Amino acid sequence: MRPPAAAPSAARILVVEDDDTIGRHLETGLHGTGYTPTWIRTGTAALTEAAESTYDVLLLDLGLPDMDGLDVARTLRARHPGLLIVVLTARTEDIDIIAGLDAGADDYLVKPFTMSVLLARLRAHLRRRTPTTVSEQPRHLGDLVLDITARRCTLHEHEIALRPKEFELLALLARHQGDAVSRETLMAEVWDENWFGSTKTLDVTMAALRRRLLDAADSTAGSARLPHITTLRGHGYRLEQN
Ligand code: CA
Repeated sequence: MRPPAAAPSAARILVVEDDDTIGRHLETGLHGTGYTPTWIRTGTAALTEAAESTYDVLLLDLGLPDMDGLDVARTLRARHPGLLIVVLTARTEDIDIIAGLDAGADDYLVKPFTMSVLLARLRAHLRRRTPTTVSEQPRHLGDLVLDITARRCTLHEHEIALRPKEFELLALLARHQGDAVSRETLMAEVWDENWFGSTKTLDVTMAALRRRLLDAADSTAGSARLPHITTLRGHGYRLEQN
């Protein structure tokens, strides 16, 4: 069972888009649906605005006049781990999409996209973030403590800053600890049953998750016991205690 949909008006959205037509279209469409959008045109303004106000979602054009949108994504991801970042790009090459996800984006839309697709994606992302009313006990995976209810992952009491999708991926594997979880299940549960893009995003997110866990283990001088995530070729992944 999925939690109920979040009230859209609760989400504050920062739109970064230098194209007047697209920017106005996004602002009007989002406002008309009950969201609270703020539209700005440059990367510099995005960094300032995100520092001064709190946002839930960043809709980010990659081709900005003053800086590369990837740098904006990277900077804001580092500063705001919980921010949902959706990249809007005219670039359709896989390599650009991977760069966007690597820079910290949670999702992307390739231009031209319709307002209804954008709204469907936002609903899916925001619904998934709505906290469930049932709290779960923190899970101990080796020395890693995963508190799904609090959305906190700690190793030797140091919090590991995971991006939203990395956390959800780890949480889903942890809930099925010891079981094989298929790629299809992961895509449907962590992303969306209406996912339109390639499943490459799963591989990128998994690589980032593994890297973050290893970095955290390294900072404990290698003494920490991490859960092991096995890749099951042609099927999916399995998380086990070490
Ligand atoms: Ca642009």
